[in-house]
Amino acid sequence: MRIAIVGCGQLSRMLALAGLPLGIQFSFIQDDISQNRDCVEGLGIIQKSPMKLEDNSGYDAQAIAQLYQDLGAPDCITVEKEQVDLALLQALAIFCPIYPSVEAIKGCQHRGQEKQLLAKLNIPTSPYFYNQSALEAVKVLGYPVMVKSCTEGYDGKNQWLIKNQADAEQFDQLGADDYIIEAFVAFDKEISLVSLRNKRGQIEHYSLTDNHHEQGILRHSIAPAVNISDATQLQAQGYMERLLTELDYVGVMAMECFVIGEELMINELAPRVHNSGHWTQLGSITCQFENHIRALAGLNLGNTKQIAVTGMLNLIGTEQPPFDALTENSKLYWYNKAVKAQRKLGHINFIGENQQAIREKIAQFESL
Ligand code: AMP
Repeated sequence: MRIAIVGCGQLSRMLALAGLPLGIQFSFIQDDISQNRDCVEGLGIIQKSPMKLEDNSGYDAQAIAQLYQDLGAPDCITVEKEQVDLALLQALAIFCPIYPSVEAIKGCQHRGQEKQLLAKLNIPTSPYFYNQSALEAVKVLGYPVMVKSCTEGYDGKNQWLIKNQADAEQFDQLGADDYIIEAFVAFDKEISLVSLRNKRGQIEHYSLTDNHHEQGILRHSIAPAVNISDATQLQAQGYMERLLTELDYVGVMAMECFVIGEELMINELAPRVHNSGHWTQLGSITCQFENHIRALAGLNLGNTKQIAVTGMLNLIGTEQPPFDALTENSKLYWYNKAVKAQRKLGHINFIGENQQAIREKIAQFESL
């Protein structure tokens, strides 16, 4: 079996590294020529996506047929990011299935549509306005509010905090388009749920994960999340099951949540393997990457059971750490990317006695 992945980043790399032992072959579509291919070099065929037609109406059918052949005629295609050109996926869907479906990716690609999907399924999310003047929105939402671009916004990119009237007036003068203005949530903490569904509708969940962000970027995760009642856990799983079933979803999906007391508010969905699920490479019987591949390949899903308390520390903008700094209870995953400030270059997974021990290890590592 051959699976093609749109994107040449670290998630594609880790999907291939998890799928190769299953005897699956990989190819990669470089859909963004500015993206470096180093992460997936040597792991399979890499092909550039063709240029769009000049009138932007789509792709030349012959060029897409050629791309499909050059990719080694994959049995299915998946993505490592939600911001992919849907027209490219639609054109490729003539040749083989796309998992998750183009519709499911579309639903998570645009923050406004994602909010509508959550509302339709009665899943709580922060109140918001679409394309509304900030001065009008704050009359209902109060200060502060978050402005988020509906597309191209991840890791806190394309987001602004509006703290007062001067900020709101300034924002309104920008003439921005396609954004949401969202109430600022005074959450207790952030958690995520990574789950998956296969073609037969089998659904599995990983443990809820505590996530710590700085400047909108995930710094570290620890699983299982602490101080979460069984009721909250079941609530999160119930929301996820509604989403996966509604979208007839195939593959891994991540749901990022704010925790406010016993309540959950969904911040964002990711129709793909997720940074807050990287700990599963060391802490679960079957990691999210292998399970995503299993779901696409039509295999039974691997066991998501957690085998140890596990933490994940992102290595952001730093050189590769010295190997002697890694203890027997940690593993390094380096992505082979050029070092650049604010860039996710690798991560370390740690296992430990308990969450506090992991927090100490992470702090030790951060101070190196
Ligand atoms: P996002 O790109 O939506 O995942 O946002 C990145 C991070 O910004 C989140 O993980 C939160 O830490 C913070 N954030 C996003 N939206 C809100 C909000 N409405 N209220 C408070 N913090 C937020």
